[in-house]
Amino acid sequence: MDQVRYKCDCGGLIEIIHSPQTWQKIKRAKFDERKTSRRPEDISGVWRFREAILPGVNDWVCHPEGRTGFYKRKKLSDYAELENLYCKHEGENPTGSFKDRGMTVAITQAKALGMQTVACASTGNTSASLASYAAHAGLKAVVFLPDGKVASGKLAQALGYGATCLAIKGDFDAAMNLVQKAASEVGVYMVNSLNPFRPEGQKTIIWEALQDLNWQAPDWFVFPGGNLGNTSAFGKALREAHAAGWIDRLPRLATVQAAGANPFYNSFRNKFQSLEPVTAETIATAIRIGNPVNFSKARHAITSTNGLVIQVDDAEIIEAKKQIDMSGIGCEPASACSLAGVKQLRSSGEIKESDTVVAILTGHMLKDPDCIMQNYGEENLHVVDATLEAVAKYL
Ligand SMILES: *Cc1c(COP(=O)(O)O)cnc(C)c1O
Repeated sequence: MDQVRYKCDCGGLIEIIHSPQTWQKIKRAKFDERKTSRRPEDISGVWRFREAILPGVNDWVCHPEGRTGFYKRKKLSDYAELENLYCKHEGENPTGSFKDRGMTVAITQAKALGMQTVACASTGNTSASLASYAAHAGLKAVVFLPDGKVASGKLAQALGYGATCLAIKGDFDAAMNLVQKAASEVGVYMVNSLNPFRPEGQKTIIWEALQDLNWQAPDWFVFPGGNLGNTSAFGKALREAHAAGWIDRLPRLATVQAAGANPFYNSFRNKFQSLEPVTAETIATAIRIGNPVNFSKARHAITSTNGLVIQVDDAEIIEAKKQIDMSGIGCEPASACSLAGVKQLRSSGEIKESDTVVAILTGHMLKDPDCIMQNYGEENLHVVDATLEAVAKYL
């Protein structure tokens, strides 16, 4: 806990394992009780579960985060042909994506370690989140972004919160390589999802959704996959919740990739024998990743939950996003993979009519306004003369 380490001696990723004493002390009812408290660390959808995240720390860098909306909408149920479909909207986090749940833990740990500078490579949302939490903690933030491939809302956030933004002339995978070198040679603290404290925070997306369902386990969780931090964290969250007796059965995980950024899908089809990196291209820039760093943990998440990996193309992503937007919820393109995935799994019969499914919406609609304007927003925009006659036609 007091070392700066990202990898095991074997070269693999590090995973945090909580001690049996930790699990014995935890009572599920305590989490429900805290929801009515006024203390930030109690109402935070992350630190509410603190004993099972980062025990022994009480100087949290907390906004607070989490406690996101849990929606059921007839329009979306009709679209996916599934009555019991819920959307957990992680776009309602302080900086507009689920990344805040991992970041509050990683920055809390950075502070505990006495680090001065924190860094990440990012398709956009991690950098926005890092910049915000570093500002809160009084740390210097440096973010590595693929030049020209970051949605405008996200870049504006990172700049606005005051991070030093390096637009790398290469793709996300190149930026990821570079930040790993910088971390080992220059001594900055790296908070990408291969930092083991990030997934500890992201587990709470699942735990809070279970709490929203009054601890009745759903049949499925369906969500997008890029660098596969969430896939890994969700598998761990479910295994821990099940082992602790918070839920009486294990839901299945379904990771949905964009067809243009699908190395995990290809690997799943190949019985996970290998991972072949791809050159990624998709409208869903948050998951435009060709060589996911969390592959081995994510594989365990899918196999240990009898899960699936599927792919959807950009047209399906846009169609599903339009449905989510026009239901009044709204999300960014990558998030719409969840609904597109549920629809596909209903059509193929994997998800049954009677199943309960939680779709995770990972990011906010305002993250990527250009996507709306370029694909369907303009249909609703009319330039008219400033007269009642001209306006009346539209009323
Ligand atoms: C980061 C991100 C993802 C991908 O999550 P991984 O954990 O990298 O698989 C999906 N959607 C949004 C909006 C994101 O910001």
